[in-house]
Amino acid sequence: MSGLGELYQQLIIDHNRSPRNFGPLDGANRVAAGDNPLCGDKIKLYLKVANDVIEEIRFEGSGCAISQASASLMTAAVQGKSPADALSLFTAFHGMVTSAPDAAGNARALGKLAAFAGVRAFPARVKCANLAWHTLRAALQNQPQAVSTE
Ligand code: ZN
Repeated sequence: MSGLGELYQQLIIDHNRSPRNFGPLDGANRVAAGDNPLCGDKIKLYLKVANDVIEEIRFEGSGCAISQASASLMTAAVQGKSPADALSLFTAFHGMVTSAPDAAGNARALGKLAAFAGVRAFPARVKCANLAWHTLRAALQNQPQAVSTE
């Protein structure tokens, strides 16, 4: 299990202990729920999208540190962005956690989200890291049914 120390970087620990944008959102016009039954992670996202901008985004959830820290960092990363830019970030993040290290040249553009690059070595954890992002995509594409990583 070497490498777990790298996986649980300080940033991930911090965002799990003190999640940003946590709680329900009054006036949300996009809501989606995500479920990772493999690990027991659950995420519910609330977005207020207006004038082609994600004006506010909050989440509720429970599960492992990776899933909750990823949701916290995701909300911080996409708030104030257009839905199209948020979906581009989804693609970049998904590529980073599923590609070989040398294929992840776009990791620098991801800023703090690059903290999750280490999960690519742990296939089961990739679903934990991606859960919030899959849920975000469902919310932006108005898919009301719950998304599941299975
Ligand atoms: Zn998990």
